[in-house]
Order: sequence, then structure tokens, then C-alpha cells
Amino acid sequence: MKTEINGETGTIGIIGGNIKKSLSPLLHNELLKYYSLNNCYLPFQISENQIKVIVEWIRALNIKEMNVTAPFKEKIISFMDNIEESAFRVGAMNTVINKNGILWGYNTDLEGFKRSLQVEGKMDIKGKNAIVLGAGGAARAIIYALCEENTKEISIFNRTLDKAKKIQKEYRAFFPNCLLQIFSLEDRIMQDKINHADFLINTTSLGSYPNIDLNPLPENIIIPDYIMAYDLIYNPAKTLFLRKAEKEGAKIMNGGLMLAYQAVESFSLWTGIEPSQKVINKLIRKMNEEIISVN
Ligand code: NAP
Repeated sequence: MKTEINGETGTIGIIGGNIKKSLSPLLHNELLKYYSLNNCYLPFQISENQIKVIVEWIRALNIKEMNVTAPFKEKIISFMDNIEESAFRVGAMNTVINKNGILWGYNTDLEGFKRSLQVEGKMDIKGKNAIVLGAGGAARAIIYALCEENTKEISIFNRTLDKAKKIQKEYRAFFPNCLLQIFSLEDRIMQDKINHADFLINTTSLGSYPNIDLNPLPENIIIPDYIMAYDLIYNPAKTLFLRKAEKEGAKIMNGGLMLAYQAVESFSLWTGIEPSQKVINKLIRKMNEEIISVN
């Protein structure tokens, strides 16, 4: 169908600190086109001191949906009028929904991550051991999802130990039976933990544009072939971390599916439309073509 910007076109979009390679505009504009919704989804690169004014704009311009990406997923929470329960517990959000001038914060990364595991080989994380590299906004959703799915042991490795400590303290209250351990990214115990893990998940931004030469793993780490290495980064499609894991025989997965499913979830929250699996598959194909063409 044809799309035209006219006097009634609504603006929605995404804010983030480094979003030039984001594929959210592609996904959301495809959905808008598919459902003939007269809206345009735009990327807005902002800095931290602009969050307040951007939130005022969302209200003033009656922007119905705004996604939020790194590094603002935690900071923006305090600017919301209401926070949906799980986003509040996660302590990070990625979607603002404007309901008649009242701004609600949601976290659709949670659902996006869970659905990506179900879709890709029906991976069950119940009773398994997981390593999470990173303790930022995205890590919070991943760790929360792992706890909800009854992962046996979760080891968090992060450069800033205090951030991991905060997650451990907060989540222990919600999930007393989940074993959450925290370490610094350089801790020598990492190899031992990896040897006993089923999942190794990178939630740091190391390896994404423009830092594609970086790897969150120390060079001497060996990744066993029985591990599932998951990188939340989707662009480039294979980060250094994933290339190393693949070379060592591990199964690998990038953040493309998670991105697609969290986008669909955000779209549904705003529109009430639940795209069919056929539509979602089409969206994923389109996204993969774009990822391949930019790499
Ligand atoms: P964030 O809140 O800014 O957190 C960034 C994380 O990376 C923190 O753990 C940070 O450690 C670590 N980090 C950054 N630079 C580092 C460095 N030089 N050395 C060591 N650690 C470093 O960002 P986020 O929202 O969590 O997003 C993280 C990544 O996940 C981004 O690449 C984002 O695009 C991706 N993501 C993908 C999806 C998806 O749907 N596929 C969804 C969400 C996020 P410190 O705590 O020490 O600063």
C-alpha cells in the first residue's frame, strides 16, 4: 500500500544515545505500513540531559509511542506518570505509551527475550546455568526473565560491580530461590563459571557499532561447544563475541529475534493489534535482509 505523510500523520519513534544503526525504524514502519496506520516512526539521537525535555515533547506533541534504547532505559523511569508492574520490578523500561496525556512505562525486552528463546529451537532455560555479561538496562530485563523462568544459577559479570550488586539485591527480594552471583568482568572465576554454564549471554554494548572490534570476553577465555552463546547485539549480525563462540563450536544467536519480538509487543501495547506469526515472520525476513545488506 502507499504511504504518504499528510496533515494527519502522527509521529512516533525511538530515543537513544547511539541509534544510527538501529533497526527499530525499519520494523515499526513496516508494521505501520502493513496495518495502514497514518504514522511515521523516527529515530531521535539524544543525550542524557535532554531526557526531560523529550518527555515534555512526547506530551506536548501527543506522541503515542516512544521506544527507549541504550543508555536511557533506567534513567527515563523517573519521568513517567505510571510504570507497568514488571517494568517497575525490572527497574528498566523501553517503551513509553501515551494514554490520553498520561505516560506509561513498559518493558517489552522481557517478552522479546523470552519469545526469541521459544522460537529459536524451543530453548528451555528452566534449571539451567546462565552467565550474563553486563548489568545495564537490557541486562536487567534478561536477568529478570531468567529468574522468572526458574534458571538455576545466574552469574553476572560487569565492569561496574556496584550495578551488578544492585540487581542482585533487588532481584533477591522477588526471586529468593534464584541463585544470583556477581563478579567483575575481569574476575578469573569466569572460565570456571563458563565451563559449567548452558547459556552465555552478552548484554554489554561491546561489539556493536561503532565499537565492533571489542569483545566483552577476556582473550584467554575458551567457550565450550555445548554452550548457547547469545548476543543481544544484532548489528553487526555476528559480533566478535559470536564469531569466537562459533569458531569454538558453540551454538550462537544474535539479538535480531529479540528486537523483532520486543518491537511487535510495543506496537501491540499502543495499537491493540496483535500481528499474526505470518506477519512477524515477514518482518523478521525483512530485518534479516537489512542486517545482511549492511554487513
Ligand atoms: P546500558 O544500560 O548503557 O548498559 C551497557 C552495558 O555495557 C553495561 O553493563 C556497561 O558496563 C557495559 N559496557 C559499556 N561499555 C563498556 C566497556 N567499555 N567495557 C566494559 N563494559 C562496558 O545499555 P543497554 O540498554 O543495557 O544495552 C546494551 C546492549 O544491548 C546495546 O548494544 C543494545 O543495543 C543491546 N540491546 C539489544 C536489544 C535487542 O532487542 N536485541 C534489546 C536491548 C538492548 P558498566 O555498567 O560498567 O557501565
